[in-house]
Amino acid sequence: MTSGPVTVPFDARLAFATHNAHKAGEVRAILVAALPGFRAEHLVTSGEVDAPEPCEDGVSFEENALIKARALAAGTGLVAIADDSGITVDVMGGAPGIFSARWAGHHGDDAANLDLLLAQLADVRPNNRGAAFVCAAAAVHPDGREIVKVARLRGVIVGAPRGDNGFGYDPIFVADGQTVTNGELDPETKNAISHRGQAFRALAEDLPRLLDRP
Ligand code: IMP
Repeated sequence: MTSGPVTVPFDARLAFATHNAHKAGEVRAILVAALPGFRAEHLVTSGEVDAPEPCEDGVSFEENALIKARALAAGTGLVAIADDSGITVDVMGGAPGIFSARWAGHHGDDAANLDLLLAQLADVRPNNRGAAFVCAAAAVHPDGREIVKVARLRGVIVGAPRGDNGFGYDPIFVADGQTVTNGELDPETKNAISHRGQAFRALAEDLPRLLDRP
């Protein structure tokens, strides 16, 4: 990433390293609900201010989340948050894992990623299709202080996509305790149970300290 300063809107208190509009919407809603006094306009995303994306060359969700948050804190001078997330399939030894966004070869091609994963699991019986969504949520202060929280949502991969909500692998994942896919859940229910919701609510407990609030 180039290290030139990025101009941020006046209201911005927190920068979120993502160019994914779905993720941005989920994290805004989660933090507004979890942080007293925090409003949607306090969060600016790297996509909204056109901040360059760093090379995600970490080998764990935690490492990649920190790489993204460190780069954005340095570029904006704001406290920066980032997540690195993905799906881990038991029978595949934890793959796609950190490669979830580029499983079919092109970064962010959700439809191709989902089709490839379904094809790879075509002959796997329902009782062997256990999986988990994982999210590492990181916060980095420009002064070097850092926090990382990791959360998981266990479930199974179904045989065919269902539902238009969410993004990525949501239409083929039924979480434990649910009867419908994440793609059929309303956004509030998904945020209440999701790996991202759990990780960012845990992060929000420590964020006031980084935002220099009591
Ligand atoms: P990241 O932006 O590098 O963290 O990549 C995350 C990738 O993992 C996304 O492109 C999706 O394919 C997948 N993923 C992560 N979280 C979710 C989710 O909540 N629902 C569906 N897919 C997800």
